[in-house]
Amino acid sequence: DIQLAARVKSLTPSATLAITAKAKQLKAEGHDVIGLGAGEPDFNTPQHIIDAAAVSMNEGHTKYTASAGLVKLLNEIAKKFQVDQGLEYKQNEILVTNGAKHALYTLFQVILDKGDEVIIPTPYWVSYPEQVKLAEGTPVFVEGSESNDFKMTPEQLSQAITDKTKAVIINSPSNPTGMIYSAEELLALGQICLEKNILIISDEIYEKLIYGENEHVSIAQLSPQLKEQTIIINGVSKSHSMTGWRIGYAAGNSVIIKAMTNLASHSTSNPTTTAQYGAIAAYEGPQDAVQEMKEAFEHRLNVIYDKLVAIPGISCIKPQGAFYLYPNVKEAAALTGYGSVDDFVAGLLEEAMVAVVPGSGFGTPENIRLSYATSLDVLEEAIARIHQFVESKL
Ligand code: PLP
Repeated sequence: DIQLAARVKSLTPSATLAITAKAKQLKAEGHDVIGLGAGEPDFNTPQHIIDAAAVSMNEGHTKYTASAGLVKLLNEIAKKFQVDQGLEYKQNEILVTNGAKHALYTLFQVILDKGDEVIIPTPYWVSYPEQVKLAEGTPVFVEGSESNDFKMTPEQLSQAITDKTKAVIINSPSNPTGMIYSAEELLALGQICLEKNILIISDEIYEKLIYGENEHVSIAQLSPQLKEQTIIINGVSKSHSMTGWRIGYAAGNSVIIKAMTNLASHSTSNPTTTAQYGAIAAYEGPQDAVQEMKEAFEHRLNVIYDKLVAIPGISCIKPQGAFYLYPNVKEAAALTGYGSVDDFVAGLLEEAMVAVVPGSGFGTPENIRLSYATSLDVLEEAIARIHQFVESKL
């Protein structure tokens, strides 16, 4: 018998995994399944990025790089912060990682001791609690309420803080809700973190996907003190449709970045060299594709949102960013005779052939997550199927 380490025995498999497996099985059996579970843009990586990566390989850039990443890429990232947020980061304040996910993983490993607490607002991106646990930390959940657009209030943050609190995660725009924190809201939360000396982990991976009149604000840009208190996590996965390239980064306090770089030097050595060249091109080159993808997402959102909330028993706050809808379907589940939203999701897949992710995986079991990172035709068909599925059972 193989005895696995305790730390992996308690790992929860990704919420999307079970539903994706089931959807795949149905597809293999010949069923016409529509998957709305995807967490990645459906567009190709812009061609000039692919070309630049190919050129770099042909020029012989196929060896290790410095653990922190290529100087040229660090400079491009620094420039991005300067242009977008007016933030100044020096080279030793940035670490390039194998995706934003690995930036977060490495960060938790270097800041958490056993029992240290990390405050995570719900609903949360599925990997936060698992990564905290892998670093022997303790996730402390702050329950988001739909009436406050699922955003953590300063009162909630204050109440969740103990003498073991090490950090708080802010993910704006949010996966799965698509909600954005305003500058005022961030300032109020940041004030508390400064008073209690709590590190702010600001996951800004959906920064470029912002709709309507909304704008992205990084908590780090609100004051020099907040900048010093914050580690920003970002990357090119969602902005430039480069999920498979695995390039993300962390920026902030040089002591933390140095420790993370040390750890990276013993775990990954460096992010894939070719992918780093692609990321340089992503930041250096034209940003038209970023804008075009954003506009496509926004158009889809506007078309399907009204159709979604017209379904009996389904309500949904309108997302301000990212590419997910996070409707509350508790009433729809009850109306159609399902005992739980998880069961409703299973029924939806089996009978209507639409795969969505149950909110239980994100810490809010009344909701489901629909990704609109798929073509408008397919989305409209999916929403029509969900509508018909609910109507047929009323
Ligand atoms: N943070 C959030 C909120 C995400 O949704 C994701 C990807 O799904 C990531 C981080 C990780 O991004 P990457 O693909 O760069 O690791």
